Amino acid sequence: MSILSDVTVAARAPYSATLKAGQSMRIIDLDGQQAVDALFYNPHDPSERYSAQDTLAAQAMAGGKFYLETGAVLRSNEGRKMLTLVADSCGFHDTNAGACSCESNTVRFGHETRFMHACRENFLVELAKYGMGKRDLVSNVNFFMNVPIRPNGELTVDDGVSKPGGYVELRAEMDVLVLISNCPQVNNPCNGFNPTPIRIIIADK
Ligand SMILES: [Zn+2]
Repeated sequence: MSILSDVTVAARAPYSATLKAGQSMRIIDLDGQQAVDALFYNPHDPSERYSAQDTLAAQAMAGGKFYLETGAVLRSNEGRKMLTLVADSCGFHDTNAGACSCESNTVRFGHETRFMHACRENFLVELAKYGMGKRDLVSNVNFFMNVPIRPNGELTVDDGVSKPGGYVELRAEMDVLVLISNCPQVNNPCNGFNPTPIRIIIADK
């Protein structure tokens, strides 16, 4: 295995990279309790992109897991395998709660949060580098984010359970453009109210 890239992504910052099929990406939660939002596209035809619906429908057929765990296959809107979650120290990752935005912050936390930085803005910055925009914002994965289901069926964002140095590793099953927002949210406990840096390592097989 050879390391192709090893970078630290600052707290609140965006990041993107293209993985070739067979390469792996390890995301390390350096200080713990840091949510990492991610979008995935086919770099050769970005109209094919990650689909939480296709991913969870396939998981339901295979036993009904609601979260992404080791062995989970992330699928595109065409049902193809994009990535496999090959290693993980956290135990589960969310793909239902979506990414934070200025608009949703306003609804959830009050109008005074309107101008706070959010994942949606990080994604728009990175999407623009690849000729994409708002219409390309689709369902995402929230690595290290704790989203339990209450008995009444509500989803809640709860305290992150990821420990300092926690990691998740993905293997690309096809060429994949990865967009990441190192979540800047401070209005709920997804980042322990304290956004922190992450480290991303890309390796060849
Ligand atoms: Zn966020």
